[in-house]
Amino acid sequence: MKFHEMNKRDVEDHLKTNFQTGLSSQEVEKKRKKFGFNQLEEGKKQSAILLFFQQFKDFMVLVLLAATFISGLMGEYIDAIAIISIVVINGCLGFFQERKAEKSLQALKEMSAPQVNVLRDGQWLKIPSKEVTVGDILKFESGDRIGADVRIIESVNLEIEESALTGESVPVTKTDHPIHVDHVSLGDLENMAFMGTLVTRGNGVGVVTAIGMSTAMGQIADMLQNAETMMTPLQRRLEQLGKILIICALLLTVLVVAIGVMQGHDLYTMLLAGVSLAVAAIPEGLPAIVTVALSLGVQRMIRKRAIVRKLPAVETLGCASVICSDKTGTMTQNKMTVTSLWSGGDTWKVTGTGYNPNGQFYAGENVVHPSDEKSLYQLLTFGLLCNHAELKRKEDEFYINGDPTEGALLVSALKAGLTREGLRKQFTIEKEFPFDSTRKMMSIIVKDSHGKRFVITKGAPDVLTEKSTAILWQKRSEVFTSEYKQEVQAAIEGMAANALRTIAVAFKPLSQGESLQDDLEIEKDLTLIGLQGMIDPPRPEVKTAVKECREAGIKTIMITGDHVITAKAIASTLGILRKKDQVLDGKDLNQMSLEELEEVVENVSVFARVSPEHKLKIVKALQNKGHVVAMTGDGVNDAPAIKAADIGVAMGVTGTDVAKEASSLVLMDDNFATIKSAIKEGRNIYENIRKFIRYLLASNVGEILVMLFAMLLALPLPLAPIQILWVNLVTDGLPAMALGLDRPEENVMKRKPRNPKEGVFARGLAWKVISRGFLIGITTLIAFMITYKQNPDHLEYAQTVAFATLVLAQLIHVFDCRSEKSIFSRNPFGNMYLVWAVLSSFILMFVVIYVPSLQPIFHTVYIEPRDWLLIFGLSALPTFLLAGSLFSRKTK
Ligand code: ATP
Repeated sequence: MKFHEMNKRDVEDHLKTNFQTGLSSQEVEKKRKKFGFNQLEEGKKQSAILLFFQQFKDFMVLVLLAATFISGLMGEYIDAIAIISIVVINGCLGFFQERKAEKSLQALKEMSAPQVNVLRDGQWLKIPSKEVTVGDILKFESGDRIGADVRIIESVNLEIEESALTGESVPVTKTDHPIHVDHVSLGDLENMAFMGTLVTRGNGVGVVTAIGMSTAMGQIADMLQNAETMMTPLQRRLEQLGKILIICALLLTVLVVAIGVMQGHDLYTMLLAGVSLAVAAIPEGLPAIVTVALSLGVQRMIRKRAIVRKLPAVETLGCASVICSDKTGTMTQNKMTVTSLWSGGDTWKVTGTGYNPNGQFYAGENVVHPSDEKSLYQLLTFGLLCNHAELKRKEDEFYINGDPTEGALLVSALKAGLTREGLRKQFTIEKEFPFDSTRKMMSIIVKDSHGKRFVITKGAPDVLTEKSTAILWQKRSEVFTSEYKQEVQAAIEGMAANALRTIAVAFKPLSQGESLQDDLEIEKDLTLIGLQGMIDPPRPEVKTAVKECREAGIKTIMITGDHVITAKAIASTLGILRKKDQVLDGKDLNQMSLEELEEVVENVSVFARVSPEHKLKIVKALQNKGHVVAMTGDGVNDAPAIKAADIGVAMGVTGTDVAKEASSLVLMDDNFATIKSAIKEGRNIYENIRKFIRYLLASNVGEILVMLFAMLLALPLPLAPIQILWVNLVTDGLPAMALGLDRPEENVMKRKPRNPKEGVFARGLAWKVISRGFLIGITTLIAFMITYKQNPDHLEYAQTVAFATLVLAQLIHVFDCRSEKSIFSRNPFGNMYLVWAVLSSFILMFVVIYVPSLQPIFHTVYIEPRDWLLIFGLSALPTFLLAGSLFSRKTK
């Protein structure tokens, strides 16, 4: 018999599990051994060896290897071996960089892997779906992706979209009854849910029947492998730029070789020098270093609790000019506590903090017992009946499983001595219409112990008052006249002005046998019972984060489903709503066309009582006004807006899988302040990339120019080929990596957002590269000329001096690259990676010059101490003197 044919009992026996408590940890262990992990096998990965050899496939490297081989044949063994060693070391470096980039991208993928709700040892837990095993009990609700193949054992209005498997995009209604049909296809299995499919409505519980490659999805997994790796705009631009730079470097190299030969240099020496120069000057490693810098930055973001799902977002983050953020849970703590209740003109206060279920009710100054106050008791009872939240305790800490709003209603009822178990004896829930943020309500149909049936609805008070035709007033049901409506409105506004989130509770008796099918029929002609007002304290760090964003030219907009007055009160406390700002609500948005919204949108800082559907309109209006928009969301309906935003941000804790999949950034802690940290990091990563592009290219320009000018002036080669390669490996590589790890400049969050259209070389970078490169080339040449003139018979001495000058000039210049302003604006010890990189390059330079056994390999000789003065003096010149004054342009 198949699982879909069995009744629940048989399924439970067959899978050796327990629907009440789930599997135990020992059982999970055993099953894990038998079935393995719940994951689809990945496509074939590129092998490490292949990756290693790929480092040498570059055309110029091949030419260099060929040239070296020829020099080996001609008896230049030392040169040949040295050059090959450097090429191999360079290749290894490239290999490790790429491996690191790949590994961190893989780690990222795992971080954003989906989680599932599972019942183990009698407790509901959230675990990575990889750890699910056969027999596990899973709970899922609207917005979740199913983590494995399951037989459904409970379903409440459950609908699942299975297009990933069946191609059919209309959701299928699911049941928990056995099915008996011959030749069923996947689409007909209405009591099964399959891995990777999407819950679009309702909720359910299922027991896992298959995991990993045994699932229906696993059987078609091969088709799903998409090895698409996304490139960031900068990487793409650099790739194009790389091609141009290669051509420039090659042309200049050819020029150097041609002039050299014309000036009477030996063709072979010039060729080897030319090829070495080409290998050194072509920035072929740039894309790899950019990837490493991006992925290291992404890891830093993870430490700050932001997971980047799509690499391009790292760059876009630095351009963000508006953050549209949800209020509840993102700006506030989402720890709700009912503090005030209202019914039929009476108000009560409740004491107690957080979810601790101890507290007292007061009417004015007097303690009251809720069971003595009929309407209060009913308000609390119905608030608990129409509710799924569970109160849990871990040591002294109480917390909620489920929706915090419902948690608050649960705790207020517990404070009155009510319990869910107690109510279950009196009431049976027949049907449920779950909460959704468009309706802003939730309803149930219940039957009491006398067989009387009625509807209980709870939801946003302004919505519920419109649906009510009667009100409970002084224990009697009265027609809901406009006078009563005014009273209720005053009560709602009174609570909201104190920043309380308000929930109204209403009911409607049903006649015998009356059966209502949809929420439209159910949620009308209600009798309003009263209101519960709950505090949701702002997160303490948000106020500062909002301020920092404002200083960074980023506007914060609060978008909430909550009441306008509540939203205003909280937005003012957080510094989001300022005097001249406008507040719009869902109704305003409905009436406005996109163009009308565009006209005002830049003045609006709070959107209240909006539905997720409105978010898309807000994003579009802001984008049409030229803004780069970050938009947060958690629900299924938020996905279109998250996708449309430049940076879609999903909540890691409360977010649905759909929202996460649509997003490019996931907040592990659902915290607004984390968005700010991610933006700061995004800005820093981009600046760091600019820093090392500036350093590498200026160094390359310097290397080419010193050779070119020497040839033009009919001088001998100022640097031996091996020296050029050495500079490329040691002096360029290490410090450039360290620049990628630099900390942000102090003013990184005091500048305006970057214009997304701005090129890599904007803000004076091209000028800096050319001017500094030129100066490095010239000073190296001067050092060479001076020493060569003094002793024309000792070429190697002059070359060693030129080599040392070039190395030092670059090592000093690297500190200048740390700032957009000047070298003096930053503490040189602020980046210790750089200090160590520079120090090791420096020491290696001495080793190459002074270790006798290395001298013949690197064509170096001892440098007289007095010449070090010349070397230091000249190498400092480009950065300190000239670059500090003459050549520095003001950049904003
Ligand atoms: P944000 O968009 O900032 O997260 P929100 O959480 O208040 O705001 P929704 O969850 O859409 O937005 O809630 C909108 C309104 O619906 C709330 O103000 C509240 O009155 C009502 N509401 C919220 N949760 C429930 C629930 N579980 N049952 C019934 N009504 C609810």
